[in-house]
Amino acid sequence: MESHLGEHERTLFGRQMRIPGVGEVGQLKIKSARILVVGAGGLGSPAAMYLAAAGVMTLGVADPDEVELSNLHRQILHGFDTLGLPKTISAAEALSEINPGIRIALHPEGAKPETISELLSRYDLVLDGTDNFATRYLIADACVLAQKPLVHGSVLRHEGQVGVFLPKCGCYRCVYPMMPDPASVPTCAESGVFGATCGVIGSWMASEALAIVLGQRTQSRLQIVDVAGGTAKVLQIKPDVHCPLCGSNPTIQSIRSERYQPTTCPAPMMNDVPLEVSVEQARDLLQSDNPPLLIDVREPDEYAHCRIAHAKLIPMASVPERLSEIPQNRPLLVHCHHGGRSLRVTQFLRSKGYKMATNVKGGIDAWSLKIDPQVPRY
Ligand SMILES: [Zn+2]
Repeated sequence: MESHLGEHERTLFGRQMRIPGVGEVGQLKIKSARILVVGAGGLGSPAAMYLAAAGVMTLGVADPDEVELSNLHRQILHGFDTLGLPKTISAAEALSEINPGIRIALHPEGAKPETISELLSRYDLVLDGTDNFATRYLIADACVLAQKPLVHGSVLRHEGQVGVFLPKCGCYRCVYPMMPDPASVPTCAESGVFGATCGVIGSWMASEALAIVLGQRTQSRLQIVDVAGGTAKVLQIKPDVHCPLCGSNPTIQSIRSERYQPTTCPAPMMNDVPLEVSVEQARDLLQSDNPPLLIDVREPDEYAHCRIAHAKLIPMASVPERLSEIPQNRPLLVHCHHGGRSLRVTQFLRSKGYKMATNVKGGIDAWSLKIDPQVPRY
């Protein structure tokens, strides 16, 4: 670790060194930290700028893209003078302006399955501000396998998330076990986003990164920020024993590139089976001559509290490894508490060829309200 601060640095960082928990020791930790920022875009821009300004002296920037005009309203690392340049070079120029002595390592190949392990080995901490699921899951998996802390950020319209995932404290897949079908999730490009919202989330990512460097984080957690509503809530994350990555019996033990292929949307095909049905329709289907298999993807403690008759419990996180228990040739109804988890599972099952998988809108809560009041609500 760096062992000395010069007079210039004491002045430069004096205001943050006054914060309890920082001081000279903390500033030296910041100075010594080696931080990788993946994605020099809307989130990576403010995150990298605040880290550089805080005195981080070794910063990696990984991004394979070039600066485009449509980036500039939110990607404030870049400007009109760097249009067309690789984002890594544009970022290095801007960051060197903020912190002249900083060492910027450029990784214009971005995050790739073939090289990510070697890339992570050079850093203490990773910030993920990428905008596609394949890369997000790649980084999340590689961080767990390499035992590196990860700060994750994402933003959509007025909402964003900041995740802190510390080794052995619960990972991204403990919260989101499966990569969703990209076709099911709108992107920033489709939905629109304010640059300022990216600024909120990216700055928050930098704050969390500094807190980790200073040893002020001991638990994984996910912050969900609604800029329009003016709210933020914090979910404490606990390691999930069923997690396919960090659980007791993990199915993901190495980085295999086929797992992170950007999934292209399958060609539309004739499929008369609706993606979702109401609880009334679900009841009629379950009472028909050819009843679907009802799959409950909630957790065992929720199932113990209340259940719909004949439902088969397969908690969401364990679905990928228990596919053999789910018949391909039979209609399936998938439900959870309110219909969110089960919709994701339904989409996952469809991506695996289960064309007759259907979500129950509203979940067991709607079932309790509209079909069977004997089923307790919670
Ligand atoms: Zn996990």
